[in-house]
Amino acid sequence: MTSPADHSPKPGSNFLRQIVERDLASGTYAQRRFAGTPGDAAHHAAGQPDPAKIRTRFPPEPNGYLHIGHAKSITLNFGLAAEYGGVCHMRFDDTNPEKEEQEYVDSILDAVQWLGYSWQANGAEHLYYASNYFDFMFRAAEALIEAGLAYVDEQSADEMRANRGDFGHAGKDSPHRSRTPAENLARFHAMRAGKLPDGAAVLRAKLDMASPNINLRDPALYRIKHAEHHNTGNAWCIYPMYAYAHPIEDALEGITHSVCTLEFEDQRPWYDWLLDTLCTLGLLAQPRPHQCEFARLNVTYVITSKRKLRQLVDEKIVDGWDDPRMPTIVGLRRRGYTPEAIRLMCERAGTSKAGGWTDYASLDIALREDLEGKAARAMAVLDPIKLKLTNWAELFGSADFREPCHAPYHPQQPELGLREFGLGSEVWIERDDFAEVPAKGFFRLFPGNKVRLKYGMVVECSGCEKDENGNVTAVLASVVPDTKSGTPGADAVKVKGTITWVGVHDALPVELRLYDRLFTEAQPDAGGKDFKASLNPNSKKLARGYLEPSLANARPDDKFQFERHGYFVADRVDHAPGQPVMNRIAGLKDSWGK
Ligand code: ATP
Ligand code: MG
Repeated sequence: MTSPADHSPKPGSNFLRQIVERDLASGTYAQRRFAGTPGDAAHHAAGQPDPAKIRTRFPPEPNGYLHIGHAKSITLNFGLAAEYGGVCHMRFDDTNPEKEEQEYVDSILDAVQWLGYSWQANGAEHLYYASNYFDFMFRAAEALIEAGLAYVDEQSADEMRANRGDFGHAGKDSPHRSRTPAENLARFHAMRAGKLPDGAAVLRAKLDMASPNINLRDPALYRIKHAEHHNTGNAWCIYPMYAYAHPIEDALEGITHSVCTLEFEDQRPWYDWLLDTLCTLGLLAQPRPHQCEFARLNVTYVITSKRKLRQLVDEKIVDGWDDPRMPTIVGLRRRGYTPEAIRLMCERAGTSKAGGWTDYASLDIALREDLEGKAARAMAVLDPIKLKLTNWAELFGSADFREPCHAPYHPQQPELGLREFGLGSEVWIERDDFAEVPAKGFFRLFPGNKVRLKYGMVVECSGCEKDENGNVTAVLASVVPDTKSGTPGADAVKVKGTITWVGVHDALPVELRLYDRLFTEAQPDAGGKDFKASLNPNSKKLARGYLEPSLANARPDDKFQFERHGYFVADRVDHAPGQPVMNRIAGLKDSWGK
């Protein structure tokens, strides 16, 4: 009998790794030369055999903040390069003049580095901007025109759309399709010289208006846009289309495996045609790049459309791009998710051609795995009520007496030493650790029951104090003598419950931000659903609580396991020593929906 697991690839293997391994074994790219910088065929021919076994790239458009889906692409591209002795280029696909901003460039570079990757290799920086290739793209377009493979089309946008046809109908040739190369070149130069207004003409490849693949029905290569570009200023008033620019960018950089998401599968014949043609024309180096498509990462309870994320920010549904509930890298980082956890989650999500959904819980699982061995332990009270130890002064001679208590920073790492805090006559405990009338199976504080204050002493509950409305305002208990943890005979008194606490005298008041999933539905925007209809009203709860004194020096981004409560991080924006602000990253176990 075979288990279902026998049919899945062995851990670590996936179809992209198999493609790379096959290419390495058969030497597909072994003859490649690389001149050290991007360039055309002549440039690379003058270079050395490429020391990088493969080249991949991460090519974001700098028009927004990166999100968890981009993290998948980053881990995949940089990860493949690292595994196979290759190099991954960081490339800004900044061919669109209008939407791009330096703010996004900076935040993208920061996110990639924070995730643990670098575009430095073999002593060189592989940080590239597609807009630096505009001159080559223009020259390549001229070459296509001269070869009779491109033409300037001056149909209106509506005519062009109508004449493209659809799945059932072949397209119709444009009336401008039969212009001579000389006429086309003159018109293209007129476009370039700014003689035509926006939208008056486009340069199109001359392929096949009847192709069953609509991407091959004379795709547009250049459009007119009188707009300033963040890198090239006003040097250009025509800009290359993405489908034309992207394959060329890959080829100029000597990319071997151009990894992209499945939507581009139908573009592959075009990708191949364009690069083969430009290689044949002697413009691009061979062997040329190949495109490989994989299914994009979808995560439950998350939306990743840039437009919808922007809506959350603009409509102030969240507190900015780095709101700890956002699936942006800046949001995940502020929430306390670690690069290790994100990388682990992306690896486990797998890489395949079959789309699917990855459960958000897998990110929390990865986070716990990462922090379990790393995060210092601490006690914190999230929903405090005072516990008064009524026999304290009598037992220890003074209400101000403090018993020093100790606990390891990490239970499995004694070398990290001990934290110290004091037990006094009053301590903060969790409100729900007391019940006047205990439910069945409740082993914590109720009149007549004994519990251990963790790392402290055993106390026996005697009742509570209430206000005029009957609300409990304090819990009362007496200390059971000679039960201090770690002292001889401390365990003689058996208890069923142990509770966490913080001494009133040395507690640090803290602002707690208790985050949860932003949506209550697993696929908030699937099938065109209104994602705002399933916003989780409890995705952010603010509370005031108390921390043990060992956290006095916590710095922004420091992460802790609060005993019994889960993982927390000192907020990287608002936390300051003396004014602690802690975000809940994740509980100790998955409690969503339970
Ligand atoms: P846009 O709609 O603005 O193009 P985009 O999400 O494709 O959005 P890009 O900046 O073009 O944004 O993406 C950079 C890279 O990240 C691309 O190679 C893209 O395929 C990849 N990517 C984006 N979203 C995902 C996802 N959910 N899973 C895997 N890869 C993704
Ligand atoms: Mg894109």
